[in-house]
Amino acid sequence: MSDTIEFARLVGSERRVGDSLAGVSRHWRGDQERFLFISPHDDDAVLGAGLLMQLAQREHVPVYLLIITDGAMGYCVPEERLTVSGIRHKETFAAYQTLGLPADHIVWMGFPDCQLSNYLGRRPAASNDPTAIAGFTGLQNSLTHHLRQIRPSQCFIPTHSDLHPDHRLAHDELMISIFHAAGEIWPELGVPLPWIPHVNEFAVYCDFPAPPSLRIRTPQEFLKRKLDSIACFASQRQIAATVQAVADAGAEEYHRAYDLALYQPARYRLAFDQPPVPRTMR
Ligand SMILES: [Zn+2]
Repeated sequence: MSDTIEFARLVGSERRVGDSLAGVSRHWRGDQERFLFISPHDDDAVLGAGLLMQLAQREHVPVYLLIITDGAMGYCVPEERLTVSGIRHKETFAAYQTLGLPADHIVWMGFPDCQLSNYLGRRPAASNDPTAIAGFTGLQNSLTHHLRQIRPSQCFIPTHSDLHPDHRLAHDELMISIFHAAGEIWPELGVPLPWIPHVNEFAVYCDFPAPPSLRIRTPQEFLKRKLDSIACFASQRQIAATVQAVADAGAEEYHRAYDLALYQPARYRLAFDQPPVPRTMR
C-alpha cells in the first residue's frame, strides 16, 4: 500500500500529515513520552495496535503492555481447558517480543478471564488472592498501582463500544483509575502521576463509537511483523476471522484520541452570555 511511513491526524478542521508521530502531535512530550497499551486479553493490543506499537519504538518511545486477564477462558480444544493460561503466557512473550517489546515491559495483572465484573472497584483482598497489591484487590487498585509504576504519557485501550464485556469494563475502570493515579489517594500504591496521560482508543472487534482521529500507513514489512506476532497466539483459534480482517485491511491502522472531558464550566459560559439561537425559522 505504501512505501513510506505516513501519519495523518485530523484535529478539528485541520489535517496534519507527516512521517513521524511526533510531527503530527500537538502535545508531544519529547523524551518523556512513554506509551502504555492496556490489553484486556493478551492478543487485543497487537490486533488493534500492532503497527503503532512498532512505530512508537522507532521514534524511541518506550512501549509497555499491561494485560488485565489471565486468559483462562480462551481455550478451543478440551485438552487446554486447564492449561491455556500458561500456554498464552508463552505465546504472549513471543508475540510482543516480535514487535520489539522487552520482556520486562510486559506486565500481567492476572484477573480471572470473563469475570471482571467481580473485580470492579477496590476492596481488601483475601489472603490467597493472586491479584492482591498492598493488601487490596480490584481493577482500580491494580490499574492505579501500575499507572503509577509505569508512569505513561499516553495510554491506549480498546474502545468502550467493543463486543467483549471485559473490554467495556476495562475501559470504565481505566478512566477512573487514571484520575486516581494522578491524585493523592491510596498513597501505598505509589507516587501520584505528574499529569493526566492522554488516552487513545484502538478497535479490535467492532467499529469505533465515533470517527478515529489518526491513520497510520506503513510499508508491508511492518504488517508482516504484526501478522507474525499475531500468529504466535496459536492457541487462539477463535480469532481467525479477526486475524483475516487484519490481513485484509493491509498495512494501515486507525486510532482515536479519547477526551476524558473533565468538567470545565467555561465550556458552557458563552452559550449563556447571549440569547439562544432559535432552532427553527418560521
Ligand atoms: Zn479481548
